[in-house]
Amino acid sequence: MAAIELKGLTKVYPGGVKALDSLDLEIPDGEFFALLGPSGCGKTTLLRTIAGLETATGGAIVIGDRDVTGVQPGARDVAMVFQDYALFPHMDVTDNIAYPLRIKKVAKAARAEKAREVGERLGLAHLMDRRPGQLSGGQQQRVALARVMATQAQAFLFDEPLSNLDARLRLEARTFLKKLQRELGVTTVFVTHDQAEALAMADRMAVMENGLIRQIGTPAEVFQRPANTFVASFIGSTPMNLLDGQVRGERLEVAGCKLPVPSSVEGRLSEGEQIVYGVRPEYMTYSTEPVEGAFGGRVSIMENLGAAHLVTLEVNDTLVQVVVPEGSEPPLGAEGFAVPKDGRALVYRDGNVV
Ligand code: ATP
Repeated sequence: MAAIELKGLTKVYPGGVKALDSLDLEIPDGEFFALLGPSGCGKTTLLRTIAGLETATGGAIVIGDRDVTGVQPGARDVAMVFQDYALFPHMDVTDNIAYPLRIKKVAKAARAEKAREVGERLGLAHLMDRRPGQLSGGQQQRVALARVMATQAQAFLFDEPLSNLDARLRLEARTFLKKLQRELGVTTVFVTHDQAEALAMADRMAVMENGLIRQIGTPAEVFQRPANTFVASFIGSTPMNLLDGQVRGERLEVAGCKLPVPSSVEGRLSEGEQIVYGVRPEYMTYSTEPVEGAFGGRVSIMENLGAAHLVTLEVNDTLVQVVVPEGSEPPLGAEGFAVPKDGRALVYRDGNVV
């Protein structure tokens, strides 16, 4: 097991696309680290460059105490699970799991023993003689994981390993994978475009945009205090309200409403300054009675979230969203107030959190 360090890592593809733009990142030994970002931001490229399947154009990759930047993929001591699992269709589960050991010239009996042990751990014991075509998507995913685990690499690299699973299996696999990673304690980098997955599984995560890392932090840090408006709008199952506003005396004027200056930025804003006011729909309460320092408007849309409703208020031509608990949803057209919870609103200046 080993820490992974990237220093100014850059990848420019032959056509001129800069997929990684001088990235710096330290992933401590044993961490479960998620890479998250929209399609095309460079997640897969980053993973493949760490694995050595792509050559870095600049910068360095250090795994443990070894600079592996120029080292062949096979000698980097990392194991990668691909989105399509890349299992061999003509081999049974045992041989698929044992394949990397065969490459390492481990004796046949020892290979079979290791495959059995890992297969058992992953709940595959009764499937060891089957071929991939005779397995469900979830079972194939476990075989791919088992193959990686059998190699005992310094680090695991997962490229959207859950994306081929249906919603229910995916949730199961999430819990399972997280538990497994904890038990094994192997440094793991996990690529996903599913933020719920990253928030649920990762110890820490990076949010990428256009080959850049826009924020690194724990899921809680990234969710509660997005460093910039890109991350703020990307993270969250219901998007954060990001509303233009202006500093006016002791208050912020946002969507024509007067709101208190959040305590976190008190004394750090200038009179008349243009800002963006950010507050998650979950971090406001809904009131049917007028409240000081709230957004007042009319209910224009209601969306059912299951155990709660997302209420959209039309506030002086601006849309403001607030989550209300099941059972207290207002009727369409009603007058209502969204009240930011104490300490939950953020202020952005030039796109960055103040
Ligand atoms: P997705 O979530 O859609 O898989 P991603 O975040 O993994 O996307 P990458 O696949 O790393 O993104 O791609 C990053 C950028 O590099 C994109 O603009 C992509 O078009 C480009 N790119 C990827 N592979 C190549 C290649 N082999 N040659 C040229 N450009 C490439």
